[in-house]
Amino acid sequence: MSVLVYTENWAGKFKKLTHEIVSFAAAIAKEMGSSVTALSIGHVADDELKTLGQYGANKVLNVQDDRFESLDNKALADAVAKAAEKEGAKVIIFAHNNEGKAIAPRVAVKLNAGLVSGVTGLPVSVDPFVVRKKVFTGKAFANVQINTDVKVITFAQNSYEVVENPTEVTIEVFDPQIGDDEFSTKVLDTHKITGKVLLTDAEIVVSGGRGMKGPENWGGLEELGELLGAGMACSRPVSDEGWRSHEEHVGQTGKIIAPNLYMAFGISGAIQHLGGISSSKYIVAVNKDPEAPIFEAADYGIVGDAFKVIPQLIEAVKELKANK
Ligand SMILES: Cc1cc2nc3c(=O)[nH]c(=O)nc-3n(C[C@H](O)[C@H](O)[C@H](O)COP(=O)(O)OP(=O)(O)OC[C@H]3O[C@@H](n4cnc5c(N)ncnc54)[C@H](O)[C@@H]3O)c2cc1C
Repeated sequence: MSVLVYTENWAGKFKKLTHEIVSFAAAIAKEMGSSVTALSIGHVADDELKTLGQYGANKVLNVQDDRFESLDNKALADAVAKAAEKEGAKVIIFAHNNEGKAIAPRVAVKLNAGLVSGVTGLPVSVDPFVVRKKVFTGKAFANVQINTDVKVITFAQNSYEVVENPTEVTIEVFDPQIGDDEFSTKVLDTHKITGKVLLTDAEIVVSGGRGMKGPENWGGLEELGELLGAGMACSRPVSDEGWRSHEEHVGQTGKIIAPNLYMAFGISGAIQHLGGISSSKYIVAVNKDPEAPIFEAADYGIVGDAFKVIPQLIEAVKELKANK
């Protein structure tokens, strides 16, 4: 019996969120008196696989099969389900991101398991298995009990600290024996966006709303973003009006992000916007209206004109960097 974690890597290196969910899984396994198996799919060197032991993984199942590079959710779900069956996993954990949300429901169907998505902390209890999640776009919490033998959850980023918990870890090559006909899609080619910080992985995000007045005013935000090594984001009307690309639109109908720091300039903080950013560790808002709802969600707020505040922030960051 074990807790199984679906890990994600970027060009062979595990993402921070993988360390988070392995740490989270280790805490659950401790409560259940079981162990943690991490499933790694793709080319990750043994040294990197071993690092998962630092966060409490007892075993890593290593699948190296080029066909999975096409990120075919059907085949990936097959592989996870087979790993879960092999390990007798009772809890299967995914990150609550595009990949996790696409694969977890398929795995749940295959294993006849109850699924709760967007879990925000350790289980309220493990027997019965009760987890907490945000509902109504983060306006309230619900405790949900999973009654099936196998439980599948997706875990919201930034909801659990990365915890060093060194464990003896074994690496095992695993071939889930997936036939070619199980792969229903194939990526023919990819066009990588270069020179940009990937928004969904960014530690810092600088974001602008309609308060920025027009696309010609983004120079300051871009300079600030570059200084901070940040990803760039925007509210939906900004991309709807064509000021910025839809790639940058965050919220209920856009990307869901969870950086350590989210900086919102001229964004009102509508519920649909907050739905995409509420897992950020710290939210800083700059808005000239002291009644703007964004201030309810913000950890730090500046009531002021973004066009005056942005140059001052740029100078402050430059000064900080110069004095380092
Ligand atoms: C089904 C549905 C889905 C949606 N999905 C999304 C989504 O995914 N993401 C999203 O963002 N929205 C979404 N929306 C739209 C959402 O409801 C809001 O309309 C939108 O988020 C508002 O964007 P905004 O804050 O940039 O603009 P506004 O609401 O126009 O707010 C502009 C803000 O800028 C401030 N401001 C103005 N000038 C300055 C200045 N010089 N300096 C500082 N502050 C200034 C104002 O005080 C105001 O608070 C959705 C709506 C619906 C109905």
